[in-house]
Amino acid sequence: MWFFTEEEKDLQRVCRDFAQKELAPFAEKHDYEESFNFSAFKKMAELGVLGITADPQYGGIGLGATAATIVMEEFGKACAGSTLSYLAHSILCVNNIQNNASEEQKAKYLPKLISGDHIGCMGMSEPEYGSDAVGIQTKAQKNNDGTYTISGTKMWITNAQYADIAYVYTRTGSERKNLSTFIIEKGTPGFSVGKPIHKMGMRSSPTGELVFENAKISSSQLVGQEGQSIYHMMKNLDIERITIAGISLGIAQACVDQCVKYAQERKQFGKHIGSFQLIQKMIAEMATETEMMRSFLYSTSKAFDQGIRGPSMAAQVKLALPKMATKIALDAIQLHGGYGYSREFPLERMMRDNKLNEIGAGTNEVMIMIIAKNLLSELKES
Ligand SMILES: Cc1cc2nc3c(=O)[nH]c(=O)nc-3n(C[C@H](O)[C@H](O)[C@H](O)COP(=O)(O)OP(=O)(O)OC[C@H]3O[C@@H](n4cnc5c(N)ncnc54)[C@H](O)[C@@H]3O)c2cc1C
Repeated sequence: MWFFTEEEKDLQRVCRDFAQKELAPFAEKHDYEESFNFSAFKKMAELGVLGITADPQYGGIGLGATAATIVMEEFGKACAGSTLSYLAHSILCVNNIQNNASEEQKAKYLPKLISGDHIGCMGMSEPEYGSDAVGIQTKAQKNNDGTYTISGTKMWITNAQYADIAYVYTRTGSERKNLSTFIIEKGTPGFSVGKPIHKMGMRSSPTGELVFENAKISSSQLVGQEGQSIYHMMKNLDIERITIAGISLGIAQACVDQCVKYAQERKQFGKHIGSFQLIQKMIAEMATETEMMRSFLYSTSKAFDQGIRGPSMAAQVKLALPKMATKIALDAIQLHGGYGYSREFPLERMMRDNKLNEIGAGTNEVMIMIIAKNLLSELKES
């Protein structure tokens, strides 16, 4: 982008090289096997991006939403599944700890998460509470000795199976807003990981359940004040939505690149298919839509970094980009004919992967609710 700083351009170049070397060649294998690319995750630590938004004193690089989105775009272009796991680690776990935890908690947990020794996840959703995240029912009951007992199940948790550290939202009171967060360590008695969830896309990103059966947790694991987590939750959702849209941008760009290449190679009726006007229209439209996505996304991430945080800004990019990327991926499959529908090309995987971005971090319908509520908040019944 013309308005990227020199630092952002360097980050883009380094991440592009890394993704083409460490992610793209293995994306199909991990999708097929439904396995996690541990080797790439470790190398992301060497690249320095696991703590992209965390303070340098804990090993992070202290950058903002634009930098994190650049990483998501470049990684997403190569392997969206590995990128989703990266997002859960760096944005849902590390960034939440960075922004909301005490100095002691940050010093205890961030260095190992940033060095890649530990993998992180975030547990908000539950079997019965997804879009209605504030309604969650996993309970943290305060005991007389000051400890908490947690019971309940978290569902759809990215990285669950491999996570050493889980950032978990619980209910600590009867009012809807009485939510509190705990940092839970793997191996805590009463805490276990449930069955893995098999998915249509993002298959290289492990998804599972976090199960709490009277797990006794020290009050030192509580993040911030009891009952204050709703503010943390809402604040982190903005950067989560901007960065997940970055994965969709990467997918859209990968589709455009693949279509341009194929249109110049594939011949029918004795001509390159790129010489047919219907194919030209498809490519011209998908490339234009991708540029629109890029401008919208990075102007929003820049505004976010400058503290300009309109209530529905992140929801708008989260609504627009994944939807457009699904359409682009479907068009790219169409342009490739039968080959597009086959596993010989990565397009069907990209379409399956991108569909998640219309659901995770809030569905399209929930984004519409947020945007409409904001626009119509002044509307009064006469
Ligand atoms: C692969 C994957 C990874 C995920 N990773 C994580 C993670 O790491 N951590 C985490 O906490 N969660 C995670 N999630 C959960 C994700 O955020 C939820 O799936 C999502 O918020 C939707 O919740 P739900 O699946 O319960 O659907 P529901 O909320 O049950 O929605 C069902 C349908 O109803 C619609 N709907 C709901 N309410 C309304 C309304 N008021 N008006 C109109 N329509 C409505 C929805 O849009 C949807 O179409 C993940 C999900 C997936 C699939």
